[in-house]
Amino acid sequence: MPWAEDWDARMSGEVCRFCRKGRPDENEDGARVYAGEVSDAYLPRNVVMRGYAVVVWRGRHVVEPTELTSGEAASYGGNVLLVDQAIQKHYRPLKMNYATMGNWTHISTLM
Ligand SMILES: [Zn+2]
Repeated sequence: MPWAEDWDARMSGEVCRFCRKGRPDENEDGARVYAGEVSDAYLPRNVVMRGYAVVVWRGRHVVEPTELTSGEAASYGGNVLLVDQAIQKHYRPLKMNYATMGNWTHISTLM
């Protein structure tokens, strides 16, 4: 039993909400604050923790980070670290946390 009726279509990219959106300046995830070579970063408006950001892979459709080539992974990781540095500089958190949300498909978040 899949998690959702359209799970297989999500995994194949047929109905992937991230691939369909393109690279909008604003969406339900929040306002785009960074547009990198292979990713966009968004700051959601309604979050409990200031500095919470979502970094979305914007290359070809993938489900798991392990599907990225080593070059793609390095580019994406570099984009994540740039966003991380900006968040640290602006919000001055005591500690950064990272999460990869597999059920959202190819999102990393910085908190
Ligand atoms: Zn996708």
